[in-house]
Amino acid sequence: MSELRWNPLLREWIITAVHRQDRPVLQDCPFCAGTEGVPEGVGAVAVPNRYPALTHPPPRPYIGGSSSQQVEPSDGSCEVLVYTSSHDTALAYLPLESVQDIIRLWRERFLDLERRPHVKYVLIFENRGKDVGVTLSHPHGQLYAFPFTPPLMRMELESLLVHSHSGGTCLLCEMVELELAEGGRVIATEGSLLAYVPFWARWPYEVQIVPERHLSALDEMKEDESLALASLLRRVLQKYDNLVDDEMPYVMVLHQRPVDGGKYSYYHFHIEIYPMRRSRTELKYLAGCELGAGVFLNDSHPEERADELRRVAPD
Ligand code: UDP
Ligand code: ZN
Ligand code: ZN
Ligand code: FE
Repeated sequence: MSELRWNPLLREWIITAVHRQDRPVLQDCPFCAGTEGVPEGVGAVAVPNRYPALTHPPPRPYIGGSSSQQVEPSDGSCEVLVYTSSHDTALAYLPLESVQDIIRLWRERFLDLERRPHVKYVLIFENRGKDVGVTLSHPHGQLYAFPFTPPLMRMELESLLVHSHSGGTCLLCEMVELELAEGGRVIATEGSLLAYVPFWARWPYEVQIVPERHLSALDEMKEDESLALASLLRRVLQKYDNLVDDEMPYVMVLHQRPVDGGKYSYYHFHIEIYPMRRSRTELKYLAGCELGAGVFLNDSHPEERADELRRVAPD
């Protein structure tokens, strides 16, 4: 039993997912070749998450709601995106063609779920490293098909809309232009894609990967752009590991348009990566300011971190 509960103070949904407590920390990897994972030599595949926080049809809520304690069924789905049949590797070290396969899978799953009326937002992400709470080290990402658009995306959508209505073009198009012109926070480019530490980075080594061309989701990407994306992604992730001489723990998230039937051509696709370190060796914890007030303390200058990341070579 699980459900969505509405917090009217923060205007956000939380998902109760009690059964996820039972997900195992496994001895035998379920995603290695021969089990439910990828057969040897096949590209990336999506498999259902065995401990999903969202399911379709949804389970009956644990508790009944009311107008002041709003409850909705946890409708949706959760998938594991298994990147490869090999266990001891990572996205950064897969051959370029395999990373292209992963991007192809991202696009396919997005388009498939876009057709389903109960899905309003497709969240694709990767948690990497023990410090992020990863329970399985086999290279994989995840997908959550939500019955609502999550708050961060809602906020971005609203900002982009307000900006265009007040005489600007696209906030992200303008940001890319500015970063290219200034150059100080750019860490790498590939074709018409750009990777930079945002001016307003929450995390010391935060990176955004953004296509220069305005597009709202991966399905609008041309072949040469997705090839450039694969290559840039690998380079950025390799830089991270080389910087810390270890497996850099990170969360990587795709920000694409919602799939609720609205028109979102004003959205600008990008990838956000948040490494969980505040220096090469120390973890960054979210504490009083961040969790209690929503204010991030970044104990470094984004320009200096960008400089470090620009200098460190990929493999
Ligand atoms: N999982 C699964 N089948 C299994 C074991 C685990 O689908 O046999 C799922 C599990 O529910 C989890 C995911 O695989 O969501 C592994 O995700 P990750 O390590 O990125 O982080 P988690 O979601 O556990 O925090
Ligand atoms: Zn494995
Ligand atoms: Zn744009
Ligand atoms: Fe974003």
